[in-house]
Amino acid sequence: MKCPYCGEVDSKVIDSRPTEDGEKIRRRRECLNCKKRFTTYEIVETVPLMVVKKDRSREVFDRQKLLNGMLRACEKRPVSYTQLDAAVDRIEQQLLNSYDREVSSIHIGDLAMQELKKMDDVAYVRFASVYRQFSDVNTFMEELKDMLDSRSKPAEK
Ligand SMILES: [Zn+2]
Repeated sequence: MKCPYCGEVDSKVIDSRPTEDGEKIRRRRECLNCKKRFTTYEIVETVPLMVVKKDRSREVFDRQKLLNGMLRACEKRPVSYTQLDAAVDRIEQQLLNSYDREVSSIHIGDLAMQELKKMDDVAYVRFASVYRQFSDVNTFMEELKDMLDSRSKPAEK
């Protein structure tokens, strides 16, 4: 951001806050050269992430929808909203990093299951049963069996 007074490129940010509509960030800057202050507005660039559903239809990725699904799975389980919110953040970040525009709903479901597995077994099973539905019940049953087996085995060593 060039200083409007002297053209200096370097400035330091003194204050930054979102505008009222929340769509821009207003920053107060001080020029490192002439010390004059000026304001810049920064816009967040958003690239919609499209989710391809099982029936091949597409919809815009909805963070809240994913979070709601995971919240439902964690009902009455010892998992906090903060934990889930952080998990959804990680999933979203992963999706934005590895895909251009489209991602399958199955892949998102898998990521969510991985996160839930780390937090709570019951929530994981609930979520998996909803997400996987009848598409590959056998795989799911195998996974469940593996999980229960590893649980019932006494710790060796
Ligand atoms: Zn300046």
